[in-house]
Amino acid sequence: MGFIRDNESYNSKPVLLRIMTTIMGPMLIYLGSRTLNFFFSNLINRADNKAKRLNKDIHKKIEELKSSTKFYSTQELLNRFGDDEQAKDLRKRRAELEKQEKLLKERQLRIKEFNVGRTVAEHWYDRLLENLIGVSDTSPNSRYALICQNCYHHNGLAMPGQNPKNIKFVCRNCKTLNPVEQPSESCDEGHQTVRQDSEGTEKDMGFGSRQDRDQPVNKQVVSEPEPELELEPEQHELVTGI
Ligand SMILES: [Zn+2]
Repeated sequence: MGFIRDNESYNSKPVLLRIMTTIMGPMLIYLGSRTLNFFFSNLINRADNKAKRLNKDIHKKIEELKSSTKFYSTQELLNRFGDDEQAKDLRKRRAELEKQEKLLKERQLRIKEFNVGRTVAEHWYDRLLENLIGVSDTSPNSRYALICQNCYHHNGLAMPGQNPKNIKFVCRNCKTLNPVEQPSESCDEGHQTVRQDSEGTEKDMGFGSRQDRDQPVNKQVVSEPEPELELEPEQHELVTGI
């Protein structure tokens, strides 16, 4: 009997436990999953919000950067000049023009330096002698300089009384044959002045007063034509406009 009672009490406990576990188990699992779900979704939401905030910050920074580097005005210019190919072409042309301009400036500078050098090289006693005995025909001041029309390199002086227009020479620097056929009015004017002066003073054995002889010739030799930047209006706009 005692064995049976014990057996019954032994059997009743697992049954209760089984019932309890069958009811409570799924509930616990459900609650656990809900808790975990809540926890992780919370984490995901926080990460999402942080990502959105960072994105906004990045956009803000980019906008600031664009406005500080004038991005929009540059973009507008590029759009105005057409597609990317055209813009590239434009940039290339601009670089070429800038290079050309630089070269021309260097040439101008070289001519200026040459003129300054000549003025300095003249001594005070040269001036005094010129004033006492007059300018000789072989003096550098009464002869034309042979300037290359291509590179503006100085190639010595013309013989006395010779018009540089009639002298053919090959430039030492760029090997171009000068003169390049161009009407040079300034040369003609200079010569006409000289001729008129000498004609006017013919009665005095061909020797004019020193000042009459000096001025036009000196003026001609010293004022060599300086090259100017000959850019077409459109090209000039491109160089300076952007
Ligand atoms: Zn030359």
